[in-house]
Amino acid sequence: MTAALGYAAPAAKTPLGPFRFERRAPGPHDVRIEIAYCGVCHSDLHQVRDEWGHGLFPMVPGHEIVGRVVEVGAHVQGFKVGDLAGVGCMVDACRTCPACTEGLEQYCENGFTGTYNALERDGKTPTYGGYSNHIVVDESFTLHISPKLDLAATAPLLCAGITTYSPLRHWKVGPGQKVGVVGLGGLGHMAVKFAHAFGAHVVLFTTSPGKAEDARRLGAREVVVSKDKAQMKAHVKSFDFILDTVSAPHDINAYLALLKRDGEMALVGVPDTPPTLQFQHLIFSRRKLGGSLIGGIRETQEMLDFCAEHGIVSDIELIPIAKINEAYERMLKSDVKYRFVIDNATLGA
Ligand code: NAP
Ligand code: ZN
Ligand code: ZN
Repeated sequence: MTAALGYAAPAAKTPLGPFRFERRAPGPHDVRIEIAYCGVCHSDLHQVRDEWGHGLFPMVPGHEIVGRVVEVGAHVQGFKVGDLAGVGCMVDACRTCPACTEGLEQYCENGFTGTYNALERDGKTPTYGGYSNHIVVDESFTLHISPKLDLAATAPLLCAGITTYSPLRHWKVGPGQKVGVVGLGGLGHMAVKFAHAFGAHVVLFTTSPGKAEDARRLGAREVVVSKDKAQMKAHVKSFDFILDTVSAPHDINAYLALLKRDGEMALVGVPDTPPTLQFQHLIFSRRKLGGSLIGGIRETQEMLDFCAEHGIVSDIELIPIAKINEAYERMLKSDVKYRFVIDNATLGA
């Protein structure tokens, strides 16, 4: 065991503060990563406040982890000491079910092991996330990070990046399509960048008129202020695909009405109360409503490689760990451009 220092919520709805704990010594297939940066996902906030229930406390959040390998187990083949490495939302899965064997570990039929707020496969050891100085992870759940990209701005790709890349690929977003992104936060701004990079005509829906200029810079061709009924009406029955990234309860029916016949909308945001569905929006135009969860390890590597090739990273605000509680409050006010990233060096020793 090795001593680790992190920031934890001691209990639900309690501010985060310094927390000392232990990490396992690397097993034969493990790497130890000294964490340089960790992105701050709205899922961290949902879980720290126990909005999804069943939270395990003390909780060290963080699943957008980048850093350098400082130790490797005897049988590790893909990493060596000094390599850049990343860890996303999963640190393990059953590895044998149909989903795992297809490389879709996020849909593991026996439940994947979350990077935090979860138990290891032994069913008793809690996992602690990236608001900490180092982490030990099986190399099969460790990603390669390109030195070409700014490291701090790469961290959010591990969750916000893959969570938007995966559905945009799954629903085959590309040239000739009109694609909507709802919400310009951490996930939303990555969705705009990817949908634009895939060649779609991107329309950003926002509740924050002040974000319009940024949205255009990030790749949106049009910006719609969703509270403005006339602006919404102008887009009725015109979208091929809409990706909804909103973290709070809102009316999804207003967006379903904007899809063409046979158009599809996917939800990735996870508000604490489920939306109400007006079925006629689906039935009368044969539309489909779906959802998507992060992405598998193979696809996460594909996304990171795509980003390295195309120079795509997140737009970030770097914060010291001591500002994490304040960052959560700002996130709740949609006041983040467009992802907070913790400088883990500020954890101290
Ligand atoms: P975020 O950075 O806080 O962004 C959420 C955005 O939603 C805000 O910036 C805001 O955009 C919009 N919004 C907030 N409150 C709203 C309201 N009341 N009505 C309408 N729009 C509102 O959050 P995030 O980190 O991107 O995460 C978004 C959601 O995705 C969270 O629920 C998170 O848990 C979930 N998530 C899901 C997965 C998955 O695998 N499916 C993975 C990661 C995260 P505007 O200011 O532009 O309106
Ligand atoms: Zn996340
Ligand atoms: Zn599995």
